[in-house]
Amino acid sequence: MKAANNNGLCPICEKNAPTGKHHPFCSARCADVDLGRWLKGNYVIPGEKAEVPEPEPDKTD
Ligand SMILES: [Zn+2]
Repeated sequence: MKAANNNGLCPICEKNAPTGKHHPFCSARCADVDLGRWLKGNYVIPGEKAEVPEPEPDKTD
């Protein structure tokens, strides 16, 4: 089982991230970077082409 937070280190830049406002990130900037990655992985950003495989057509006889 893998913990989301790794030993108090910022998951973005891997610097020491003290417990605080932006925990587990070291700063608002890193928190923002992580949020951006998360959003891109879950939503289609308007203006960007999403790589979605086309579904195979149903074979109906
Ligand atoms: Zn950081």
